[in-house]
Amino acid sequence: MATVMKNVMSASVTPAPEGFSSRLEYWEKSTGLKADRCAHEICDRPATEGAIARRAFSSDNKVYVFPACETCARRTEMLYVDGPLAILS
Ligand SMILES: [Zn+2]
Repeated sequence: MATVMKNVMSASVTPAPEGFSSRLEYWEKSTGLKADRCAHEICDRPATEGAIARRAFSSDNKVYVFPACETCARRTEMLYVDGPLAILS
């Protein structure tokens, strides 16, 4: 079941969480999974960074990280994200 997400566009200027070298590493340590593929449902590229996003159509104000390719991490439309999300804040 995919989660509908909307990227937070300040991602490129947001530093990695303290104690982690990247948001991708943070996601891997939080979920216990290996971030190999982009989590966007229709994308099959390798994950190269941790996208920062909120849930779309939701009152949930938390910010989440999911593994994404360079393109999907910068998308401005809604994304269907497969797999677990790591809570960033
Ligand atoms: Zn992608």
